[in-house]
Amino acid sequence: MIYWIHIAHSIDRVTLHKDRCSEVPSSQTSTDYWGGGWYDYPDKERALAAMEQAGPTDLRRCPLCKP
Ligand SMILES: [Zn+2]
Repeated sequence: MIYWIHIAHSIDRVTLHKDRCSEVPSSQTSTDYWGGGWYDYPDKERALAAMEQAGPTDLRRCPLCKP
């Protein structure tokens, strides 16, 4: 299972998603510091650690895919 985190500094939020969530972009777009970047991790532990180190204070789990 791959996990994705979406980092959006403009709204001070990081969101955790599971692979195949409909919100995860199907093709990698260019990473935008303020608008948000998508990063994938091979397991949940690494994704959670990356969320904590990302900077934003609002850490969320996607309500759609419930990671
Ligand atoms: Zn999701």
